[in-house]
Amino acid sequence: MNEFDIIKHYFTVASRRKDVLMGPGDDCALLQVPPNSLLAVSTDTLVSGVHFFADMDPMALGHKALAVNLSDLAAMGADPCWVSLALTLPEVDENWIKGFCAGFFELAEYYNVALVGGDMTRGPLSITVTVHGTLPEGKGLRRNGARVGDGIYVTGTLGDAALGLQQVQGRVTVPEQHRDFVRTKFEHPHPRILAGQALRDIASSALDLSDGLAGDLAHVARASGMRAQLELEQLPLSAAMLATVSREQGWELALTGGDDYELCFTVPELHRGLLETALAHIGVKFTRVGRMLAGEPGVELTSEGRPYQLASQSWDHFRGGDE
Ligand code: ADP
Ligand code: MG
Repeated sequence: MNEFDIIKHYFTVASRRKDVLMGPGDDCALLQVPPNSLLAVSTDTLVSGVHFFADMDPMALGHKALAVNLSDLAAMGADPCWVSLALTLPEVDENWIKGFCAGFFELAEYYNVALVGGDMTRGPLSITVTVHGTLPEGKGLRRNGARVGDGIYVTGTLGDAALGLQQVQGRVTVPEQHRDFVRTKFEHPHPRILAGQALRDIASSALDLSDGLAGDLAHVARASGMRAQLELEQLPLSAAMLATVSREQGWELALTGGDDYELCFTVPELHRGLLETALAHIGVKFTRVGRMLAGEPGVELTSEGRPYQLASQSWDHFRGGDE
């Protein structure tokens, strides 16, 4: 198969969306943006050997390439609509492409996102996805919207993807009954689209957690010009985490581990009731982990009311001794 056959056969999928006037195959896709809407656009690239292992299961990779992009739409509170895909492949391996498409389209269909175009080039394996979503005019969960006194919240549990990575690398031994859970969190993250939409009128700011809570929350603190105070005892850690490492090591993974793709958001006290109703309605677990304070922009870690110092900034910390 040549490039055109591959695109036609694997990447041209009829969409149910009526707002796709022209999908793959012409010079551009033509998309009907709903009236009084904002377009939310985000791009992420995954490079083999940098963001994933070259031998990663293509189906998981197809899922993850789209999931990490949808996660950005979720963090903005947007409704996902369209996606384009630029693939750089070292060779045409149809089995690999089949697997990749299976993972990619399963997630795309789940959220009714249409693949509307892309590019195919030859070279070292790399995947670039651009997602497009819509928001009602005037909406959008920006990083600079937090106010002094807002609570800081996260969805789900934190650090599990980093724990999954360490398990794959043989650096920790997760008890048997928890292995599927951490592997899924690492390889098959689920973007918090519904939570993002529900937070649109409730949260004052939001972002998705791709690099660990401490570093990611620092972006919100800086953009909003205030201090983010975290209470480490409040950090939601999974049963898998607590069964594998100490609580302090769990905090460390939650604060500095990547790839969680949970949402972190701030909510004014006034909206606390609304928040509980809205997230209970969609069945998303969330936890209050701190609050925004006036002061020098940055993140402040506290434990039992006292300042807390991270033991290390890197995973190497966990390697020695007790394994
Ligand atoms: P051009 O030379 O005009 O850039 P291409 O040969 O790159 O055209 O692509 C032809 C058509 O196929 C375009 O509509 C493009 O959007 C679509 N396309 C290319 N690669 C992909 C892909 N991986 N997934 C979906 N559509 C694709
Ligand atoms: Mg092209």
